[in-house]
Amino acid sequence: IVKLTDVNKHYGQLHVLQNINLEVSKGEVVVVLGPSGSGKSTLCRAINRLETIDSGSIEIDGQVLPEEGKMLAKLRADVGMVFQSFNLFAHKSILENVTLGPIKVKNMKKAEANKLALSLLERVGVANQKDKLPAQLSGGQQQRVAIARALAMRPKVMLFDEPTSALDPEMINEVLDTMVGLAKEGMTMIVVTHEMGFARKAADRVIFMADGQIVEQAAPEQFFTNPQSVRAKDFLGKLI
Ligand code: ATP
Ligand code: MG
Repeated sequence: IVKLTDVNKHYGQLHVLQNINLEVSKGEVVVVLGPSGSGKSTLCRAINRLETIDSGSIEIDGQVLPEEGKMLAKLRADVGMVFQSFNLFAHKSILENVTLGPIKVKNMKKAEANKLALSLLERVGVANQKDKLPAQLSGGQQQRVAIARALAMRPKVMLFDEPTSALDPEMINEVLDTMVGLAKEGMTMIVVTHEMGFARKAADRVIFMADGQIVEQAAPEQFFTNPQSVRAKDFLGKLI
């Protein structure tokens, strides 16, 4: 459902994505691992066209992502994204944060959007917070709202870029549990994370990146117990 073919990107001299080829099937959960600066965030941002690419193509559900225009907006709506910082609208209620996209982008009626938002907030366990402002919620609750907001667009794939790394330890699990739930329901997910427990538990496949390249990919069990490349061995060796 996501297909990258020979994707290249430079930041000046830096070749940040080098001939990336990656195909993610419907319902698959792919965890992207790799050292800092290896290009994981750039990869996610490219898939959502928050970054342009220099060459190659990115397809979402069989359609090539164009540079701009209506088709880009349509395909982007198919890709939900959750970042490290929750990026909720500070002056809107939790409920409004979730209904805004469906109302503005999908022309959904307010009553219908409210119903959808409530069911999603219910699903991520924060429906009782619906009338509060984001700042009145804990980090873990805010991140779950961000997940509900992304889901409200009915995406075909969800991208997560280190969704728990800004959270206090006691809140990490509530967000990871939400993500495991999504994975079990069959959502297609690409997840950049340092949470190896999540990778082991939820990933169908682990992608290991270093220096802008996909160095290795394998089933989690195989990757963690028997990494092939020197870079991956080195990376795993540094984890506690
Ligand atoms: P981390 O684990 O620290 O989040 P990452 O794997 O997500 O790292 P990226 O954020 O994709 O890495 O960055 C890859 C490389 O591109 C880094 O060397 C970074 O400094 C560089 N880079 C990222 N964004 C820009 C930008 N807007 N302009 C120039 N260089 C950039
Ligand atoms: Mg990053």
